[in-house]
Amino acid sequence: TGQNEAVLACENVVRRFGGVVALKNVSVSVSRGEIFGLVGPNGSGKTTLVNAVTGFYPPQEGRIFLNGQQINGQKPFRIAAMGVARTFQNVALFHGMSVLDNILMGRHIYMKPNPLASFFYPWWARKEEIEHRRKVEEVIDLLQLAPARDEHVDVIPLGLQKRVELARALCAEPKLLVLDEPMAGMNQEEKEYMVRFILDAQEALGLTVLIIEHHMDVVTALCDRVLVLNNGQEIAQGPARETIANPLVVEAYIGK
Ligand code: ADP
Repeated sequence: TGQNEAVLACENVVRRFGGVVALKNVSVSVSRGEIFGLVGPNGSGKTTLVNAVTGFYPPQEGRIFLNGQQINGQKPFRIAAMGVARTFQNVALFHGMSVLDNILMGRHIYMKPNPLASFFYPWWARKEEIEHRRKVEEVIDLLQLAPARDEHVDVIPLGLQKRVELARALCAEPKLLVLDEPMAGMNQEEKEYMVRFILDAQEALGLTVLIIEHHMDVVTALCDRVLVLNNGQEIAQGPARETIANPLVVEAYIGK
């Protein structure tokens, strides 16, 4: 697999909800190591595209590939197991559990239940457990979550909850990380921290990211390229900074 091979490729994706066409022939390709932004006014189809990729709302037309393998038509849990991890606009953590336990849940897709392994506890099971532990500790360090590891997720600030959710997604070692408005509800300082953490994680782990983001300062700080949607259609696509300055894009936002 070459450096420029698309990790994610969406081809002419169409998604309707009753009479509403939420996505009209949307095509997008995200390269390995790229942070790719989805922008556009409310109701433009960003979440629908993410839901098409993750399998929650499969497209009615078009095709979606992950590393060349067709994924549209697969169930969400299959797509997750194939390497697509996502975070949600409204934090989705396991209540009543600690930060560490929530992050460990990100590893569960790797843990094949095997009663024999736990009975004999052979060397390979131990090796696997050490590897899980190593990955989790790496992510905790990277996102500076060590001081909070034993806190209950319900009592920590929103900015920290979002970082825990990111950590959980990173622990799955995704081929594609999908972030749905990771800055939603954050104050300026929390946003700047989050940008830093995403960039650090990208550099350390070589991530490929698809991100829905409407803060333009965050888009220019994070994204290599963007796709701008309006009424379910592409109105612009290209390098982040110049694309969001495109008069068509500015107009789409003002029109809303
Ligand atoms: P964005 O994420 O850009 O705000 P969405 O993808 O959420 O936009 O919505 C695009 C369009 O699709 C909107 O008109 C919205 O009402 C419609 N839509 C999205 N999800 C559903 C759904 N589950 N049922 C019906 N309509 C939906």
